[in-house]
Amino acid sequence: MAVRPVVVWPDDRLRQPSVAIGAIDASVRALYQDLVDSMYAENGLGIAALQLGDNRRMFIVEPRLAGRDETELPVAFINPEVIESSDEQQDSEEGCLSFPEIYIKVKRPLRTKVRAMGIDGVVFEIEGEGLLARCLLHELDHLSGKLLVDFVGPLKRTMIKKKLTKLKGAEAEDAEA
Ligand SMILES: [Zn+2]
Repeated sequence: MAVRPVVVWPDDRLRQPSVAIGAIDASVRALYQDLVDSMYAENGLGIAALQLGDNRRMFIVEPRLAGRDETELPVAFINPEVIESSDEQQDSEEGCLSFPEIYIKVKRPLRTKVRAMGIDGVVFEIEGEGLLARCLLHELDHLSGKLLVDFVGPLKRTMIKKKLTKLKGAEAEDAEA
């Protein structure tokens, strides 16, 4: 039940393999609450458990984006899987809480359908188009350790690494020099 610091790249915890969640117990509900608190603290549209350093297969999406009422809680996606994605693509800039101030153009399917278990333990399906599809596929990437930097070349990756290391403060900058 707390805002936890978001893991920022390059941090190996973002590359951990994630593990399926069995039952929805108290510790899963606590993780869900931490994800909600941390996402809202950072004004994110979604966040994956791996971004809090927890390797369980779960992410959440902001309720309005997921087609719910804004007064509802964020939607939990537990053990999510893609059922189908459109051949039609979209290509626009994407951000990530683990890459503060970085935006990268990523080509993704325009529509996707995802099946997951909710925080109430009920399995549901959701179809997303445009930004929702982009968000669902972005969070799903997190669960397999795939990150925004995997969509760019080595030169841009080095630039991003420098920028994020600089953000961490003068101490980190000294260590790099
Ligand atoms: Zn992300």
